[in-house]
Amino acid sequence: MRPFASRCFHSNRITYKLKIRAFSGTTAFMRALILSDIHANLEALAAVLAAAGAYDQLWNLGDVVGYGGSPNQVIEVIRPLSHLVVRGNHDRVCCGVASALGFNPVARAAALWTQQELTPQNLEWLKALEQGPIAPNRVLADHLNVTCVHGSPLNEDQYILSMRDAWAPLQQMTTDLTFFGHTHVQGGFALSGSEWREIRPAYDSRNEAESWTINMEPGSRHLINPGSVGQPRDYDWRAAFAMYDSNTAQMIYHRVPYDLIASQGRILMAGLPERLAARLREGR
Ligand code: ZN
Repeated sequence: MRPFASRCFHSNRITYKLKIRAFSGTTAFMRALILSDIHANLEALAAVLAAAGAYDQLWNLGDVVGYGGSPNQVIEVIRPLSHLVVRGNHDRVCCGVASALGFNPVARAAALWTQQELTPQNLEWLKALEQGPIAPNRVLADHLNVTCVHGSPLNEDQYILSMRDAWAPLQQMTTDLTFFGHTHVQGGFALSGSEWREIRPAYDSRNEAESWTINMEPGSRHLINPGSVGQPRDYDWRAAFAMYDSNTAQMIYHRVPYDLIASQGRILMAGLPERLAARLREGR
């Protein structure tokens, strides 16, 4: 610490840099909670936040609303917690920035209901959300080699479901690590030298809270999907999220059970299509 202190006397710029380092935790433990596709599911979000424990930053990959029965409540919980929010395709349609014509009838019905339900303030917040890619550096510090997107780093609406989909983004993305959502499938893709790998967390149970950790080797590139908080589609009904530890270069995937019946009840009480409630139990 002594050399830092003596350098502070010589340059204001160095002092500033040191303050940023202290604030951002460059030399310290840094944990980012990554959430995507909450889809107005308040019960799932509450379970995730309770299970996540301590973190330094929360990065939100979009689709905060649409499908679920609690759009205002979810925005009011997640808005003050998010250090970064990327807009999702449902966010765009639910606030009227984009047309619902490309949506299937169920998604369209939910989007139109959401638009009518949202308070003026929450509508304005959704309209102002930025298109990805967004680098956490802008809100944090310049040492993280990370980007956040909704669909793909190359196109916000593109689905990355297979190695074939991941091939171009993995090579063309501007950072070694990109977080993406949109598919509602937890996992990801990695490129290390000429070796390609699909990442699919393997869990032991179907109904318990569980985690699964991967170590990211230096020099490798990763596309990481934390999974969907509010409407998983990987045949696992539990709410999904991920914790990124930049200090240990570990990605910790999580699944956590939540009050499914209450969440389904809100969808049905709102008069939304029954399919939206049923699919939550199926995880698809
Ligand atoms: Zn989504």
